[in-house]
Amino acid sequence: MAFQCQRDCYMKEFVTTVASCCPAELKQEIGGKKESVSGFTVKLQDTILFPEGGGQPDDHGLITDIPVLRVTRQGQDAAHFVASPLEVGQEVRVKVDWERRFDHMQQHSGQHLITALAESMFGHMTTSWELGRQRSTIELDTPVVKAAQVQALEEAVNEKIRAHIPVNVKLLYNDSPELEKVRSRGLPDDHAWPIRIVDIEGVDANMCCGTHVSNLSHLQVIKLLGTEKGKKNKTNLIFLAGNRVLKYAEKSYSTERSLVALLKTGPDEHVEAVDKLQKSMKLVQKTNLNLLRDMALLIAHNFKNDPRRGNFFSLHRKEGDHEFMNIIVNEINTQETLVFLTVGEEKGPGLFLLAGPSEQVTQLGPRLLQLLQGKGAGKNGRFQGKANSLARRGEVEAFLQQRCNQFNLQEE
Ligand SMILES: [Zn+2]
Repeated sequence: MAFQCQRDCYMKEFVTTVASCCPAELKQEIGGKKESVSGFTVKLQDTILFPEGGGQPDDHGLITDIPVLRVTRQGQDAAHFVASPLEVGQEVRVKVDWERRFDHMQQHSGQHLITALAESMFGHMTTSWELGRQRSTIELDTPVVKAAQVQALEEAVNEKIRAHIPVNVKLLYNDSPELEKVRSRGLPDDHAWPIRIVDIEGVDANMCCGTHVSNLSHLQVIKLLGTEKGKKNKTNLIFLAGNRVLKYAEKSYSTERSLVALLKTGPDEHVEAVDKLQKSMKLVQKTNLNLLRDMALLIAHNFKNDPRRGNFFSLHRKEGDHEFMNIIVNEINTQETLVFLTVGEEKGPGLFLLAGPSEQVTQLGPRLLQLLQGKGAGKNGRFQGKANSLARRGEVEAFLQQRCNQFNLQEE
């Protein structure tokens, strides 16, 4: 049994009747989150909405004005998932999301063509393929595809497109003599006669359930973007077919224009300009880091040389880091001074370091964590960690200052 979309891949609207409608759940992934949607599974007398198969994703579309969220194969039937129920026996108009479908047809027929020529020209067999959201991939059973081969293959597939070769769907029965010639990965166990063959005249005949263009000219153009290392001893060939090539060119041009404005150079100099920027950025970072180290030393010396210095030192510096804090602490005698340092966003997350006489630090640590919503640990007179928020830093400072005064009175 074949669906109407397989008999006529170009039909955009179709009138049929509802055969069944049952409550169902659809598990979806939206933005990486798994969600379960309640709705109904509708089966129709026939359909122009393709259920996924042969590497081709399912169609989107409408039944009357109800959006079809998913189409899957259930035995010989197509199961349409919709949010609201339909009446059994009701006559309905089905519309396919043609932009999505035609895109799938271009990628799928494009894959058949590339697969056929990769095999006949270089003996590279296709082991699987994936119709991706942005680009599609053909897995070839070879450890390498040379750049010259990719180029020759691209030229050859586009030549076939220019030759506007018809693509026909044939049905073969188990006694058809043509069966021998059909290239396929073997017949699935549950197949039923007749089998469906997609025949690119004189180029390729392959068993497939997908929807295909009726002529190679409908592919417009194929761009082989390149290859990537695949699974063990395989190579992935990345391609775009039809409108995707136009969209890709549009997107690339828009990116190029933005880069021209940002980098103030023509496209040919973009790589060089970014490379230069990255190198000077690294240099600036290194200089910055050195300056920060020097500043830490100066801050510590300044404190040590202050005759009016007490026994408490506190400092916040937005752009500091662990090392910045450690340098200061190493320079100041923390046997007689309690040092409280923070770096990071004023009211946001950051790092802290408390150093001083061991007993004091151990005593004060927990309260500090509480006020800074932090996590930390310490030993030998140092207590450090991460603060979720430095918003209450002022309170910590006041608290430490006060406790410092108390410790002094105890000692005296
Ligand atoms: Zn196919």
